[in-house]
Amino acid sequence: MKVLIFVSALSLVGSCATKRYTEKIQDIKDNIKFEDVNQINNFANTITADELSKNVYAFSSDENQGRKTGTLGHHNASSFLKKYYIKEGISSPLGTDNYYQNIPESFFTNEIKNSQNVVAFIKGSEFPNEILIISAHSDHLGTIDNIIYNGADDNGSGTAAVMEMAQAFKIAEQKGFGPKRSILFLHLTGEEEGLYGSRYYTEHPIFSIENTIANLNIDMIGRVDKLHENNPNYIYIIGADRLSTELHYISEAANKQFTNLVLDYKLNSESDPNRYYFRSDHYNFALKGVPVIFYFNGEHADYHQPTDTADKINYPLLEKRTKLIFTTAWYLVNSPKRIIADKR
Ligand SMILES: [Zn+2]
Repeated sequence: MKVLIFVSALSLVGSCATKRYTEKIQDIKDNIKFEDVNQINNFANTITADELSKNVYAFSSDENQGRKTGTLGHHNASSFLKKYYIKEGISSPLGTDNYYQNIPESFFTNEIKNSQNVVAFIKGSEFPNEILIISAHSDHLGTIDNIIYNGADDNGSGTAAVMEMAQAFKIAEQKGFGPKRSILFLHLTGEEEGLYGSRYYTEHPIFSIENTIANLNIDMIGRVDKLHENNPNYIYIIGADRLSTELHYISEAANKQFTNLVLDYKLNSESDPNRYYFRSDHYNFALKGVPVIFYFNGEHADYHQPTDTADKINYPLLEKRTKLIFTTAWYLVNSPKRIIADKR
């Protein structure tokens, strides 16, 4: 009898706690509402497969010699990005025409020369001090034995996605729908060498880390892995729920409202042996307590091979995935309240 009472008391506690948790999650979900869906769709639709394709081809072209950090090829790629932002009328947070966060040679090991993160900025209208960072690494493996590693998926795809989103947010601003919070578009260097660019940024932030509301990081989103050959309408979401419950549900709500991709959480499992959560630039932001999402298509036969070329990218799929990130970002910068990192 005693045992029985004990058990039922325990199960009572258990069910109350569960109910409270369920209610909390329901509250979070109920609070996520996209205002003006048509308007958001209008701006999302400025992100097109055609423009993404144009930028992936240009960025991963042989001219950039595989973009190894600190080489002429990577400097050329950085210059390409800078010219793009100037052309689009998107400013730098560092002032006038200085789009480079320079990283000295001494910060690198392995004989890597000085390099740079490329930064562009749209200022928020209501909460300008709160910053969303949308990032993608710009470097790749370079030229080895005279063979160019173009890195079209890794990470021409993420780079082109950032460029298109910046343009879409700029068009929105010009039409009177500028973001309420600020957005930093961040092209990171030195990722392939060991996440140098993101570590440099988080150690020398342009805007304080405390005011950085989230980091959406993109590394390879233009291809399909073996597991999804028969259903390419997917993207792996990694890290979204690790620091902020809310961020995970915002990402789900954006997808449900706008893109209807299958959000695959397999690689987000803490027991996943690949440990992707630790392997791209978002991790340096997560280490500082900034909620992150890492968008990734998974590995494929051309991963880190000279055959990762622009002709193999699925551009309509790249467009759809970019729209998911754009609409998630839209919510994060326009929601009435800054997201909470409840699991920090
Ligand atoms: Zn990469």
